[in-house]
Amino acid sequence: MNENELFQAALGILPPWLVDHCDFTVEPGRLDIYLDFPRGSTFPCPVCSAAAKAYDTDTLTWRHLNFFEHQAYLHARTPRVECSCCGVHRVAVPWARPDSGFTLLFEAFVMKLVQGMPVRAAARLVGEHDTLLWRIVNHYVDLARSQADHSRVTQVGMDETAARRGQNYVSLFVDLKERKVLFVTPGKDSATVAAFAQDLTAHGGDPQAVAEVSLDMSPAFVKGATEQLPNASITFDKFHVVGLVNGAVDEVRRLERKEHPELTGSRYVWLKNLANLTANQKDKLAAFDLTRSHLKTARAYQIRLAFQDLYNQPPDQAKTYLDKWYFWATHSRIQPIIDAAKSIRRHQDGILRWFTSRINNGILEGINSLVQAAKAKARGYRSNRNFASIIYLIAGKLNLSPLPT
Ligand SMILES: [Zn+2]
Repeated sequence: MNENELFQAALGILPPWLVDHCDFTVEPGRLDIYLDFPRGSTFPCPVCSAAAKAYDTDTLTWRHLNFFEHQAYLHARTPRVECSCCGVHRVAVPWARPDSGFTLLFEAFVMKLVQGMPVRAAARLVGEHDTLLWRIVNHYVDLARSQADHSRVTQVGMDETAARRGQNYVSLFVDLKERKVLFVTPGKDSATVAAFAQDLTAHGGDPQAVAEVSLDMSPAFVKGATEQLPNASITFDKFHVVGLVNGAVDEVRRLERKEHPELTGSRYVWLKNLANLTANQKDKLAAFDLTRSHLKTARAYQIRLAFQDLYNQPPDQAKTYLDKWYFWATHSRIQPIIDAAKSIRRHQDGILRWFTSRINNGILEGINSLVQAAKAKARGYRSNRNFASIIYLIAGKLNLSPLPT
């Protein structure tokens, strides 16, 4: 076996393609493999597959997987064929996709890399500009998404996540059963839900078939869900609901701190759940002597604990429990708590729906933290499109199998 035959076998090149010659440059180390085809060869027309002869050729170059530690390139006189039906077209070469400067195997390698490191880091590792790698990432993510089947989606969670500095958000739509991101789109207004409904339809799903949705109490999502997912029952995510009451507790503490300096530095003592307090925070909480305290903050805190306990009630008693809690909260003479209670009342149906649907945005919280960690590691993304691709890669459970491995 000579070196041409060796590389031909190693590359898996099939006739009419063959390795014509190879060059190895020592400094810097680089392997160039020149491919060619015998005169008179025919190629399938890329449109109709009929065999046709070369009309003219252009020499194209593709970066391939490294040869040991050295960069490797394929070069080929690539023909255009003149098909009697379809006219003149560039043939598809089996080792690369059209208009890519990389072989399929190189792209597959890049896709493996970017699942474990930021694109910028992968670009440094392979010695390419990151815009070229982003092109690869976006291509394969788009391809996998175009083939994704969303026909069985019936439970959807939606939430926003911070995209870039300032007030820049993308909205995430998640299949709560399959625990995967279905759709990412810029913004956090009701139009994002319309875009989701459209995308769902494009992937074989049916907005009418969505029976349960989980969301925060933002009017934009409520409006979008009501209009676009007409058969869905809304469950307000319990983390956001408890967060609303918790926010009121924090406001009470801030207002009361002026007259009660002992509240300074106690913020998380009131906001965290008992089980999550540090030993130091537990001591602090004990020192406030909740049962005898006259602090509004302490009362607000107990009203919050009682609210959280709603979620431990048997379903048939939830409504009665919430009514009692509402009476207590609205008679507390603590304005932020009264305001929160009234908001809870207005959203009561969606809050109590949880006792039937048992859905929440927990999976979204998990996805959110993964996505934000990746974003921090990448030191941000240049565009929402790139950000969306990374979200799909991390949490879209994409089938990237069209890639050679
Ligand atoms: Zn043709």
